[in-house]
Amino acid sequence: MRALAVFPDRRELRMIDVPEPVRRGEREVTVRIREVGICGTDREIGAFHYGAPAPGAERLVLGHEALGEVIEVGSSVSTLAPGDLVALTVRRPCDAVSCVACRAGRQDFCVSGRFVERGIHGADGYLTELVVEDERYLVKVPHGLAEVGVLIEPLTIAAKAAVDLDAILRRYPWEPVGLRALVLGAGPIGLLGAMMLVARNVTTFVYSREAADSDRGELTRSFGAEYVSAGDTPLSELPPRIGNADVVFEAVGAARVAFGALPALAPNGVFILSGVPAAGTPIEIDLDGIMRDIVLKNQVLFGTVNASRAAFEASVRQLEQFMGLFPDALRSLITHRATLEDAPELLHRPGGIKQVVSLAA
Ligand SMILES: [Zn+2]
Ligand SMILES: [Zn+2]
Repeated sequence: MRALAVFPDRRELRMIDVPEPVRRGEREVTVRIREVGICGTDREIGAFHYGAPAPGAERLVLGHEALGEVIEVGSSVSTLAPGDLVALTVRRPCDAVSCVACRAGRQDFCVSGRFVERGIHGADGYLTELVVEDERYLVKVPHGLAEVGVLIEPLTIAAKAAVDLDAILRRYPWEPVGLRALVLGAGPIGLLGAMMLVARNVTTFVYSREAADSDRGELTRSFGAEYVSAGDTPLSELPPRIGNADVVFEAVGAARVAFGALPALAPNGVFILSGVPAAGTPIEIDLDGIMRDIVLKNQVLFGTVNASRAAFEASVRQLEQFMGLFPDALRSLITHRATLEDAPELLHRPGGIKQVVSLAA
């Protein structure tokens, strides 16, 4: 069967032929992959900047944002049946006995750093036709989400952030109502994060570089958030333009933008960092001012990476809610669909919002 693989040592990215995977354990499930989303991580791996094959292997099959269909299940599988749609989780627990996170099934909080991520680090991914996986790493998806289910994995970033955000908001001795949020970046994660906030009745502003009358600006307004273009409003003018934000959700992966937006964070506000910046030239920022503000305004900054099974399940519920609230906006996040054969080209040609490789017959 076909697969898209990267050979880091030879600096090659190409379609290869691989044997079909074989089910061995009773709890294993054979999944036919239907769609795989492409993101910046895939592009970095495809450009040989990141990622690693399994130990001893020379190539890594790419793809980690996947929606599939169950075609066979082992005799002990109890939660899934052939025909079910599933989202495939990405991170697998490390082997460290002392890693309390992985031992508790929360490998998104792994402390040893020796975790494996399918399609990214240490295990093959999902840009192929068939995958065998333990049922505990597969999350059932309602058929009504078939056309957007590929967004479940990117949405887990916001779903996990929302759980942590709620925990932090519980420190207030009052009910946090009438919240205002600023989302930095109008890529898939930023827009999904903005949808999550709007769905929670948070007044939401999305700040990004595209023009106010761009497709992204229009899309943002279509689901009930406001769009502010960096072209019209420099970072320094954000607070007077939109007021203070109780929550900032960063999804640009650029420290200059993230920390430049800190003055817009309200007293007692929460700033969520989800982007991963590439190594770049050091920038100069007023750290004394930032630290003073964080202390004197009781602010919280936290980072969030990967997702637990619970976050995938929350993401499925969230996506169902979005489908009810703003189905057209949700659908229009997927701007390109390509075949598996065209996937290598897709990796080299960023564009639109979310690009998806479609393997469905
Ligand atoms: Zn991704
Ligand atoms: Zn661990």
